[in-house]
Amino acid sequence: MHLAERPLGYDTRFGSGWISGVFAVALAALGLGGVLCLRFPSFLTTPDARALYPLDLVRFLIHLLLVAGFGLGALSIVLSRRAPLGLVGIALVVAGALLGGSQVPIEGPLETSRYLGLDWFLLNVLVLAMLFVPLERLFARRPSQPIFRPGWATDLAHFAVSHLLVQVTVLLTLVPAALFFRWAVHPTIQGAIASQPALLQFVEIVVVADLSEYAVHRLFHTVPWLWRFHAIHHSSEAMDWLAASRIHLVDAVVTRALAFVPLYVLGFSTGPVYAYLVFVSFHAIFVHANVRFRFGALERIVGTPKFHHWHHATAPVDRNFAIHLPAIDRLFGTLYLPEGFPAAYGIDGHPVPRRYAAQWVRPCRRGR
Ligand SMILES: [Zn+2]
Ligand SMILES: [Zn+2]
Repeated sequence: MHLAERPLGYDTRFGSGWISGVFAVALAALGLGGVLCLRFPSFLTTPDARALYPLDLVRFLIHLLLVAGFGLGALSIVLSRRAPLGLVGIALVVAGALLGGSQVPIEGPLETSRYLGLDWFLLNVLVLAMLFVPLERLFARRPSQPIFRPGWATDLAHFAVSHLLVQVTVLLTLVPAALFFRWAVHPTIQGAIASQPALLQFVEIVVVADLSEYAVHRLFHTVPWLWRFHAIHHSSEAMDWLAASRIHLVDAVVTRALAFVPLYVLGFSTGPVYAYLVFVSFHAIFVHANVRFRFGALERIVGTPKFHHWHHATAPVDRNFAIHLPAIDRLFGTLYLPEGFPAAYGIDGHPVPRRYAAQWVRPCRRGR
């Protein structure tokens, strides 16, 4: 996948039309994505989520996105002499309108056999961007790092593909446990665990899952052919919420599938497991964010941006393997928490290619 990496050659100051142009493209693209979901719901929406959508509100939101995209696109054209961003924004809105706009009727029975999670991607990108972009502007660890820093398009491609393929990744995460570890299940143990209070189960899940995540993560660092996959994640030279998504699908699926095995065997209730899934997807992004928050003594107990930023430091990278609980690293002698944040991120020598497609195939090539 090839997308423009940087707005090179643009005047990006306030009043230049760049900010309105970027917002025009972003909002119009979200609006167009929403129209596509309404137009092709069988193929572009997640079956489990369909029943939960307040459809009138969704249509209204899509309408607002298209109108705002058009208005900001027009503003950008007026403000800037060269107007590609504004024009792209308006073109996306026109495409959305031609496809039926926010009021396009949903027709026919919906299939559930094969689908892409476009709705899942759009919702996540909307919510996370609304949360983290202002947070990283207000409390930046590196204030000079722009939103569209080098590598943003590659990371957005990782983010998009992993969300679009949600059907495949969820299946690959859940199936191995049921397939290979059914023998380890014991109804008495499962009954005892599932009868505990939900909050206690949630805390236990965090501990159990992070112990597995620690082990698998450490393995990805020590076994050379596994490191080839995990190196993609470590190739980010800028830390922010989007950098969290730069993970090879093999890395993501293997880690999740193995972390799920003990949860499956122990038989935790679905409520606390779902709560953990929400928690991990937020926390794993938060620890990558470009924020300077400090948490005092808590930093040695709970995973913070500083804790995980040190894991991404050019040196020493083989530390801080846990996601949620630095206490696990402390237990195994791999905790590294000096004062402040690391000066540089990434891998010395830049062995990982910068383009998305090249990152996908690199670990699979032999002899490199
Ligand atoms: Zn790592
Ligand atoms: Zn990371």
